[in-house]
Amino acid sequence: MHFFITLIMIIPKEPKLTVEQLSAVTAIVEEYDCKLQAIVGHHRSVYAVLGEERKTVMVNRILGLDFIDRFDAVDSPFKLMDSSSELAHHKIVLGNHIVGEGPFVIAGHCTIDPKNPNLFIESAHAVKEAGAKAIRGGVWKPRTMPYSFQGDDASVKILMEARSQTGLPVDTEVMDEHQLRIAVEAGVDILQVGARNALNYSLLKSIGQMTQNKKIAVLLKRSMGMGPINEFIAAAEYIAAAGNPDIMLCPRGTNPTMDGYRNYPDESITPLLKEKTWAPVIVDPCHSVGRAKYVPSAALAAIAYGADGVIIESHLDPQRGIGDDPKQSIKPAILKQLITDIEAIWAIKNRTVPVEN
Ligand code: PEP
Ligand code: MN
Repeated sequence: MHFFITLIMIIPKEPKLTVEQLSAVTAIVEEYDCKLQAIVGHHRSVYAVLGEERKTVMVNRILGLDFIDRFDAVDSPFKLMDSSSELAHHKIVLGNHIVGEGPFVIAGHCTIDPKNPNLFIESAHAVKEAGAKAIRGGVWKPRTMPYSFQGDDASVKILMEARSQTGLPVDTEVMDEHQLRIAVEAGVDILQVGARNALNYSLLKSIGQMTQNKKIAVLLKRSMGMGPINEFIAAAEYIAAAGNPDIMLCPRGTNPTMDGYRNYPDESITPLLKEKTWAPVIVDPCHSVGRAKYVPSAALAAIAYGADGVIIESHLDPQRGIGDDPKQSIKPAILKQLITDIEAIWAIKNRTVPVEN
């Protein structure tokens, strides 16, 4: 699958092409398997050629027509993830949910405790009851210290048990090919690429290759050090170019932190992402603010900014949790209220007439 987005704009000498001129240009363009699209302005029309790649001969033939003034070429660096790519209308389906149609809430433990599988399963039922559409649970964990609990292959079974009991898709982070293989074979629905690995291009390529045509989605976190938005979209492009375009972008806070929060909250990049790419945006407010009490406001802000959903750490008894759960997991009762509020904001957001400029 290789699409190359080169947008060639043809500008006629007169304000618009006549019917005969239009059919002459269309005939040339179609010979090269491209399409011509008129962009009709008040005073002037221009004509976009959408095609697989720049065809020098085609362009020269069009420029040779005496009613054509010039052309401008616009290349997007994102052949697949660009909002004007052939995938612009691509939809990601997870469980019964089409991402983008109604808020998509992923919730569950930061980390699965393999010594206490029932607690994870009970939390999974509770977050489903609260309205979550998918379950998260960390099988393997990126930890700052090598002595902290690193996760356990055995927890995949617990995650998949939660899947079969709740009927909801499940999400877990993979950090290397060993974990990737286990997760894919087990049937995990959403593979999370964590903030620490969002720039690990070898891993991104392996994920794209190994999940091709398997109906597995990828939740790509924004790395804490990522500045330019294009760097984030380029990471997604790696996965798509390797074979899997089912990618959701996940802002999760960046460094340096905002004093008092775990990271610098970045849900506000959502509208910018949505302008550049068609990929759904699922914000992670927990890792961004890092404290349970701040999570609901940050989640609502994300939806107000136009996010397609949020991923939330939620635990029946956060104090008995491991990993991040004691500090930033919200209880399912809070999650339930939050999802009600998210739906209210979603409804307001979707009736708001977008303001230009
Ligand atoms: C997580 O989701 O638990 C996690 C480790 O996230 P991040 O990669 O954003 O730090
Ligand atoms: Mn976590």
